[in-house]
Amino acid sequence: MTPDDPGRVAPKPGATIVLVVPVYNEDQGLCALRDRIVAVMDRIPYDWSCILVDDGSRDASWSVIESFVAADARFKGIMFSRNFGKEMALTAGVEAALGADAVICLDADLQHPPEIIPQLIAKWEEGYDIVATIREKVADYSLVKKIGSKTFYWFMCRFTDLDLPPNSTDFRLLDRKVMETLSKFTEGSRMFRGIIDWMGFKKTYIAFCAPARSQGKPAYPVKKLFNLAINSFTSFSLVPLRLAGYLGLIIMAVTLPLLCGMVLGNWFLAANITPIAFFTVFNTLLIGIVLCALGMMSLYIGHIHTEVANRPLYIIRSRAGAWDAPPVTAA
Ligand code: UDP
Ligand code: MG
Repeated sequence: MTPDDPGRVAPKPGATIVLVVPVYNEDQGLCALRDRIVAVMDRIPYDWSCILVDDGSRDASWSVIESFVAADARFKGIMFSRNFGKEMALTAGVEAALGADAVICLDADLQHPPEIIPQLIAKWEEGYDIVATIREKVADYSLVKKIGSKTFYWFMCRFTDLDLPPNSTDFRLLDRKVMETLSKFTEGSRMFRGIIDWMGFKKTYIAFCAPARSQGKPAYPVKKLFNLAINSFTSFSLVPLRLAGYLGLIIMAVTLPLLCGMVLGNWFLAANITPIAFFTVFNTLLIGIVLCALGMMSLYIGHIHTEVANRPLYIIRSRAGAWDAPPVTAA
Protein backbone atom coordinates (compact mmCIF):
# COMPACT_ATOMS: atom_id res chain seq x y z
CA MET A 1 0.00 0.00 0.00
CA THR A 2 1.20 3.56 -0.65
CA PRO A 3 1.28 5.98 2.27
CA ASP A 4 -1.64 8.01 0.94
CA ASP A 5 -3.89 5.02 0.37
CA PRO A 6 -7.37 5.87 1.63
CA GLY A 7 -8.60 3.29 4.11
CA ARG A 8 -5.07 2.48 5.20
CA VAL A 9 -4.78 1.49 8.86
CA ALA A 10 -2.76 4.10 10.76
CA PRO A 11 0.49 2.68 12.16
CA LYS A 12 0.17 5.23 14.99
CA PRO A 13 -3.51 4.87 15.86
CA GLY A 14 -5.19 7.95 17.32
CA ALA A 15 -2.26 10.22 16.46
CA THR A 16 -2.86 13.84 15.53
CA ILE A 17 -0.84 15.89 13.08
CA VAL A 18 -0.74 19.68 12.91
CA LEU A 19 0.43 21.67 9.91
CA VAL A 20 2.06 25.02 10.63
CA VAL A 21 2.15 27.61 7.85
CA PRO A 22 3.89 31.01 8.22
CA VAL A 23 2.03 33.61 6.16
CA TYR A 24 3.30 36.99 5.07
CA ASN A 25 1.37 38.81 2.33
CA GLU A 26 0.10 35.63 0.71
CA ASP A 27 -3.63 36.46 0.25
CA GLN A 28 -3.66 35.51 -3.45
CA GLY A 29 -2.28 32.03 -2.97
CA LEU A 30 -3.92 30.90 0.28
CA CYS A 31 -7.06 29.37 -1.30
CA ALA A 32 -4.99 27.14 -3.57
CA LEU A 33 -2.86 26.15 -0.58
CA ARG A 34 -5.93 25.30 1.51
CA ASP A 35 -7.42 23.18 -1.31
CA ARG A 36 -4.21 21.24 -1.84
CA ILE A 37 -3.71 20.71 1.91
CA VAL A 38 -7.27 19.41 2.34
CA ALA A 39 -6.95 17.12 -0.71
CA VAL A 40 -3.75 15.56 0.68
CA MET A 41 -4.61 15.44 4.38
CA ASP A 42 -8.06 13.96 3.90
CA ARG A 43 -6.38 10.84 2.48
CA ILE A 44 -4.24 10.38 5.58
CA PRO A 45 -5.51 8.15 8.41
CA TYR A 46 -4.84 10.70 11.16
CA ASP A 47 -6.73 13.59 12.70
CA TRP A 48 -5.19 16.77 11.47
CA SER A 49 -5.47 20.52 11.78
CA CYS A 50 -3.68 23.46 10.23
CA ILE A 51 -2.41 26.58 12.02
CA LEU A 52 -1.85 29.58 9.76
CA VAL A 53 0.39 32.18 11.41
CA ASP A 54 -0.08 35.62 9.90
CA ASP A 55 3.26 37.32 10.45
CA GLY A 56 1.98 40.92 10.26
CA SER A 57 0.77 40.78 6.62
CA ARG A 58 -0.17 44.08 5.00
CA ASP A 59 -2.59 42.53 2.52
CA ALA A 60 -5.85 40.63 3.09
CA SER A 61 -4.17 37.41 4.32
CA TRP A 62 -5.81 37.61 7.74
CA SER A 63 -9.37 37.97 6.31
CA VAL A 64 -8.69 34.94 4.11
CA ILE A 65 -7.46 32.98 7.15
CA GLU A 66 -10.59 34.02 9.09
CA SER A 67 -12.78 32.79 6.24
CA PHE A 68 -10.99 29.39 6.30
CA VAL A 69 -11.49 29.12 10.08
CA ALA A 70 -15.19 29.97 9.74
CA ALA A 71 -15.70 27.34 7.03
CA ASP A 72 -13.61 24.49 8.45
CA ALA A 73 -12.91 23.95 12.16
CA ARG A 74 -9.66 22.16 11.31
CA PHE A 75 -8.14 25.52 10.32
CA LYS A 76 -6.90 27.90 13.01
CA GLY A 77 -5.26 31.29 12.76
CA ILE A 78 -2.74 33.27 14.78
CA MET A 79 -2.11 36.92 13.91
CA PHE A 80 1.10 38.65 15.00
CA SER A 81 0.94 42.31 16.01
CA ARG A 82 3.64 43.07 13.41
CA ASN A 83 6.12 41.30 11.19
CA PHE A 84 8.45 39.23 13.40
CA GLY A 85 9.92 37.05 10.63
CA LYS A 86 9.35 33.49 9.49
CA GLU A 87 11.45 31.94 12.27
CA MET A 88 9.16 33.44 14.92
CA ALA A 89 6.00 32.52 12.98
CA LEU A 90 7.18 28.89 12.87
CA THR A 91 8.08 29.00 16.57
CA ALA A 92 4.64 30.36 17.51
CA GLY A 93 2.93 27.74 15.34
CA VAL A 94 4.88 24.83 16.81
CA GLU A 95 4.25 26.08 20.37
CA ALA A 96 0.53 26.38 19.62
CA ALA A 97 0.58 22.82 18.28
CA LEU A 98 2.11 21.34 21.47
CA GLY A 99 0.10 18.28 22.44
CA ALA A 100 -0.10 16.96 18.86
CA ASP A 101 1.92 13.87 17.93
CA ALA A 102 3.70 15.55 15.05
CA VAL A 103 3.89 18.91 13.38
CA ILE A 104 4.67 19.64 9.74
CA CYS A 105 5.96 23.09 8.79
CA LEU A 106 5.45 24.31 5.24
CA ASP A 107 5.56 27.63 3.38
CA ALA A 108 2.39 29.35 2.25
CA ASP A 109 3.61 30.05 -1.29
CA LEU A 110 3.32 26.40 -2.40
CA GLN A 111 7.08 26.09 -2.86
CA HIS A 112 6.77 23.25 -0.35
CA PRO A 113 4.28 21.04 -2.22
CA PRO A 114 1.72 19.54 0.23
CA GLU A 115 1.73 16.40 -1.97
CA ILE A 116 5.08 15.43 -0.35
CA ILE A 117 3.45 15.27 3.11
CA PRO A 118 2.48 11.54 2.88
CA GLN A 119 6.17 10.73 2.29
CA LEU A 120 7.14 12.70 5.39
CA ILE A 121 4.51 10.87 7.42
CA ALA A 122 5.62 7.48 6.10
CA LYS A 123 9.16 8.15 7.34
CA TRP A 124 7.78 9.28 10.72
CA GLU A 125 5.86 6.01 10.94
CA GLU A 126 9.16 4.19 10.34
CA GLY A 127 10.42 5.79 13.56
CA TYR A 128 12.20 8.98 12.51
CA ASP A 129 11.80 11.96 14.85
CA ILE A 130 12.69 14.58 12.26
CA VAL A 131 11.86 14.17 8.60
CA ALA A 132 13.51 17.09 6.83
CA THR A 133 13.58 17.95 3.15
CA ILE A 134 16.24 18.97 0.66
CA ARG A 135 15.36 21.25 -2.21
CA GLU A 136 16.81 19.67 -5.33
CA LYS A 137 15.90 22.44 -7.73
CA VAL A 138 14.38 25.85 -7.17
CA ALA A 139 12.44 27.23 -10.09
CA ASP A 140 12.68 30.94 -9.30
CA TYR A 141 15.89 31.58 -7.37
CA SER A 142 18.11 34.34 -8.78
CA LEU A 143 21.82 33.69 -9.34
CA VAL A 144 22.69 35.92 -6.34
CA LYS A 145 20.38 33.87 -4.09
CA LYS A 146 21.85 30.59 -5.38
CA ILE A 147 25.45 31.73 -4.80
CA GLY A 148 24.46 33.20 -1.40
CA SER A 149 22.82 29.93 -0.37
CA LYS A 150 25.89 27.88 -1.43
CA THR A 151 28.24 30.21 0.47
CA PHE A 152 26.04 30.11 3.57
CA TYR A 153 25.94 26.32 3.70
CA TRP A 154 29.69 26.13 3.07
CA PHE A 155 30.37 28.35 6.10
CA MET A 156 27.81 26.54 8.24
CA CYS A 157 29.35 23.13 7.44
CA ARG A 158 32.93 24.28 7.97
CA PHE A 159 32.62 26.41 11.07
CA THR A 160 29.69 25.07 13.12
CA ASP A 161 28.85 21.74 14.70
CA LEU A 162 25.57 21.54 12.80
CA ASP A 163 24.71 18.72 10.48
CA LEU A 164 23.02 21.02 7.98
CA PRO A 165 23.10 19.61 4.44
CA PRO A 166 23.12 22.15 1.59
CA ASN A 167 19.65 23.22 0.44
CA SER A 168 17.84 21.79 3.44
CA THR A 169 14.57 23.62 4.07
CA ASP A 170 12.08 24.39 6.82
CA PHE A 171 9.62 21.99 5.17
CA ARG A 172 9.88 19.26 7.78
CA LEU A 173 8.00 16.98 10.08
CA LEU A 174 8.85 17.07 13.79
CA ASP A 175 7.81 14.40 16.23
CA ARG A 176 6.19 15.36 19.54
CA LYS A 177 9.48 14.99 21.45
CA VAL A 178 11.23 17.40 19.09
CA MET A 179 8.38 19.93 19.48
CA GLU A 180 8.59 19.69 23.26
CA THR A 181 12.36 20.16 23.20
CA LEU A 182 12.02 23.12 20.85
CA SER A 183 9.70 24.85 23.30
CA LYS A 184 12.55 24.83 25.86
CA PHE A 185 14.75 27.03 23.66
CA THR A 186 14.52 30.66 24.71
CA GLU A 187 17.04 32.35 22.40
CA GLY A 188 15.55 35.32 20.61
CA SER A 189 17.74 35.45 17.53
CA ARG A 190 17.10 31.97 16.21
CA MET A 191 17.48 29.95 13.07
CA PHE A 192 14.59 27.50 13.29
CA ARG A 193 16.24 24.85 11.13
CA GLY A 194 19.61 25.28 12.86
CA ILE A 195 18.14 24.73 16.32
CA ILE A 196 16.37 21.58 15.15
CA ASP A 197 19.54 20.24 13.56
CA TRP A 198 21.52 21.10 16.69
CA MET A 199 19.16 18.91 18.77
CA GLY A 200 20.18 15.65 17.14
CA PHE A 201 17.42 13.00 17.30
CA LYS A 202 16.80 10.40 14.61
CA LYS A 203 16.65 12.31 11.34
CA THR A 204 16.19 11.58 7.66
CA TYR A 205 15.84 13.63 4.49
CA ILE A 206 13.53 13.57 1.50
CA ALA A 207 14.45 15.41 -1.72
CA PHE A 208 11.93 17.46 -3.67
CA CYS A 209 11.85 19.99 -6.51
CA ALA A 210 10.62 23.40 -5.40
CA PRO A 211 8.35 25.02 -7.98
CA ALA A 212 8.19 28.80 -8.48
CA ARG A 213 6.19 30.56 -5.78
CA SER A 214 2.43 30.51 -6.42
CA GLN A 215 2.07 34.31 -6.47
CA GLY A 216 3.70 37.53 -5.33
CA LYS A 217 7.32 38.26 -4.61
CA PRO A 218 9.60 36.44 -2.14
CA ALA A 219 9.23 38.09 1.26
CA TYR A 220 12.93 37.51 1.80
CA PRO A 221 14.88 39.86 -0.46
CA VAL A 222 18.65 39.38 -0.65
CA LYS A 223 19.32 41.99 2.10
CA LYS A 224 16.94 40.31 4.58
CA LEU A 225 18.43 36.91 3.70
CA PHE A 226 21.96 38.24 4.23
CA ASN A 227 21.03 39.50 7.72
CA LEU A 228 19.35 36.17 8.51
CA ALA A 229 22.46 34.28 7.33
CA ILE A 230 24.78 36.42 9.50
CA ASN A 231 22.46 35.96 12.50
CA SER A 232 22.25 32.21 11.95
CA PHE A 233 25.99 31.82 11.48
CA THR A 234 26.93 33.84 14.54
CA SER A 235 24.44 32.04 16.76
CA PHE A 236 26.08 28.71 15.99
CA SER A 237 29.73 29.64 15.49
CA LEU A 238 32.21 31.51 17.67
CA VAL A 239 34.78 31.60 14.86
CA PRO A 240 34.16 35.29 13.96
CA LEU A 241 34.76 36.21 17.61
CA ARG A 242 38.05 34.34 17.65
CA LEU A 243 39.35 35.77 14.36
CA ALA A 244 41.06 38.76 16.03
CA GLY A 245 42.88 36.41 18.40
CA TYR A 246 44.06 34.12 15.57
CA LEU A 247 45.28 37.14 13.58
CA GLY A 248 47.12 38.44 16.65
CA LEU A 249 48.82 35.07 17.13
CA ILE A 250 49.97 34.96 13.49
CA ILE A 251 51.32 38.53 13.69
CA MET A 252 53.18 37.74 16.93
CA ALA A 253 54.56 34.50 15.51
CA VAL A 254 56.09 36.45 12.61
CA THR A 255 57.18 39.69 14.30
CA LEU A 256 58.62 38.36 17.56
CA PRO A 257 61.37 36.20 15.94
CA LEU A 258 61.96 38.96 13.40
CA LEU A 259 62.45 41.54 16.14
CA CYS A 260 64.77 39.23 18.09
CA GLY A 261 66.74 38.60 14.90
CA MET A 262 67.06 42.32 14.28
CA VAL A 263 68.25 43.09 17.82
CA LEU A 264 70.74 40.24 17.86
CA GLY A 265 71.91 41.07 14.34
CA ASN A 266 72.52 44.67 15.35
CA TRP A 267 74.47 43.74 18.43
CA PHE A 268 76.52 40.75 17.37
CA LEU A 269 76.78 40.94 13.60
CA ALA A 270 76.79 44.70 13.33
CA ALA A 271 73.94 44.49 10.83
CA ASN A 272 72.89 47.96 9.89
CA ILE A 273 69.18 47.90 10.77
CA THR A 274 67.58 51.30 10.49
CA PRO A 275 65.53 52.62 13.42
CA ILE A 276 62.50 52.92 11.08
CA ALA A 277 62.64 49.19 10.24
CA PHE A 278 63.07 48.36 13.93
CA PHE A 279 60.10 50.48 15.02
CA THR A 280 57.88 49.21 12.21
CA VAL A 281 58.41 45.62 13.34
CA PHE A 282 58.06 46.63 16.99
CA ASN A 283 54.75 48.41 16.26
CA THR A 284 53.42 45.42 14.35
CA LEU A 285 54.32 43.21 17.29
CA LEU A 286 52.36 45.56 19.58
CA ILE A 287 49.35 45.28 17.25
CA GLY A 288 49.68 41.49 17.47
CA ILE A 289 49.72 41.68 21.29
CA VAL A 290 46.62 43.90 21.31
CA LEU A 291 44.79 41.54 18.94
CA CYS A 292 45.74 38.57 21.12
CA ALA A 293 44.33 40.39 24.15
CA LEU A 294 41.13 41.01 22.18
CA GLY A 295 41.07 37.31 21.30
CA MET A 296 41.34 36.41 25.00
CA MET A 297 38.42 38.72 25.76
CA SER A 298 36.37 37.16 22.99
CA LEU A 299 36.85 33.74 24.59
CA TYR A 300 35.00 35.09 27.61
CA ILE A 301 32.41 36.85 25.43
CA GLY A 302 31.91 33.46 23.72
CA HIS A 303 31.15 31.90 27.09
CA ILE A 304 28.65 34.68 27.84
CA HIS A 305 27.07 34.15 24.39
CA THR A 306 26.64 30.45 25.11
CA GLU A 307 25.18 31.10 28.56
CA VAL A 308 22.78 33.77 27.30
CA ALA A 309 21.50 31.44 24.56
CA ASN A 310 20.55 29.18 27.48
CA ARG A 311 20.15 26.07 25.33
CA PRO A 312 19.28 22.82 27.06
CA LEU A 313 22.47 21.21 28.35
CA TYR A 314 21.51 17.81 26.97
CA ILE A 315 18.53 16.25 25.27
CA ILE A 316 17.21 12.80 26.13
CA ARG A 317 15.61 10.93 23.25
CA SER A 318 14.16 8.05 25.29
CA ARG A 319 14.60 6.22 28.57
CA ALA A 320 14.56 2.55 29.48
CA GLY A 321 13.74 1.02 32.82
CA ALA A 322 11.22 1.66 35.59
CA TRP A 323 11.47 5.43 35.79
CA ASP A 324 8.21 5.90 37.72
CA ALA A 325 9.44 3.71 40.59
CA PRO A 326 11.19 5.43 43.54
CA PRO A 327 14.99 5.40 43.29
CA VAL A 328 16.58 2.21 44.59
CA THR A 329 18.29 2.87 47.95
CA ALA A 330 20.87 0.70 49.68
CA ALA A 331 19.47 -1.50 52.50
N1 UDP B 1 7.26 34.58 5.69
C1 UDP B 1 6.88 34.99 6.97
N2 UDP B 1 7.43 36.13 7.47
C2 UDP B 1 8.35 36.86 6.79
C3 UDP B 1 8.75 36.40 5.52
C4 UDP B 1 8.20 35.25 5.00
O1 UDP B 1 6.05 34.36 7.61
O2 UDP B 1 8.81 37.90 7.30
C5 UDP B 1 6.66 33.35 5.13
C6 UDP B 1 6.13 33.48 3.72
O3 UDP B 1 4.78 33.89 3.68
C7 UDP B 1 6.30 32.07 3.19
C8 UDP B 1 7.56 31.59 3.89
O4 UDP B 1 7.71 32.42 5.04
O5 UDP B 1 5.23 31.26 3.60
C9 UDP B 1 8.79 31.65 3.00
O6 UDP B 1 8.99 32.97 2.54
P1 UDP B 1 9.62 33.25 1.10
O7 UDP B 1 8.84 32.52 0.06
O8 UDP B 1 9.73 34.73 0.94
O9 UDP B 1 11.07 32.64 1.26
P2 UDP B 1 11.92 31.82 0.17
O10 UDP B 1 11.01 30.77 -0.41
O11 UDP B 1 12.37 32.79 -0.85
O12 UDP B 1 13.02 31.23 0.98
MG1 MG C 1 9.12 30.84 -1.07
